[in-house]
Amino acid sequence: MLNFCSLYSGSSGNSLFVETDNTKLLIDAGVSSKKIEKALNDIDVDPSSLDGILVTHEHSDHIQGLGTFSKKFDLPVFVNQETLDAMPKQRDKIADKNIKKFKVAEKFSIGDLDINPFSIPHDAANPCGFTLLNENKKISIATDIGHMTNDILKNLEESVFVMLESNYDPEVLKCSSYPFSLKSRIAGPSRTFVKSNRWKNHFFFIKIRFKKCNAWSFK
Ligand SMILES: [Zn+2]
Repeated sequence: MLNFCSLYSGSSGNSLFVETDNTKLLIDAGVSSKKIEKALNDIDVDPSSLDGILVTHEHSDHIQGLGTFSKKFDLPVFVNQETLDAMPKQRDKIADKNIKKFKVAEKFSIGDLDINPFSIPHDAANPCGFTLLNENKKISIATDIGHMTNDILKNLEESVFVMLESNYDPEVLKCSSYPFSLKSRIAGPSRTFVKSNRWKNHFFFIKIRFKKCNAWSFK
């Protein structure tokens, strides 16, 4: 069994849930601890039964509730060194024993999930996506990617499910109230999304700003 649920997605906060027969993980905790707790309760998951939280990068819409949630439920946080260094306020809330460091491009396991963190292009300290493999079923998560790279495509290969997130729309951006500097950042070289015929038979979930739970199950 491999279940995936998008608890929150979009610029107001991100948190994803992945579950196998004996492992439960969050990917990012970008809304308040209370909101994450409620979203998990809504899908009948006890937050204290989680095995940990994977962190993609340090932007607040990915870590806002991280420290508090980890502390409240005594949960390990899996993070790379550069990302950890870039989020001192969250770091302070997490117990030392719950800091579990990984290196991008080095595989590790949590329970019966084999995890492969891979680098993504985004303006953060060391942002990454993840592939998660359980019993030959692989799902891939890459959020906030500015543009597609060959390395990302290679990592996504053979996934039964891919979640890609990319927030770019030139018209929406033009009319937005964002300051010029942020508009320039979003419209910069990190925005281009390249389509590839190689993926026409795969299921892609490319969506932002979901307000309710979106769940998939792979058996
Ligand atoms: Zn970001």
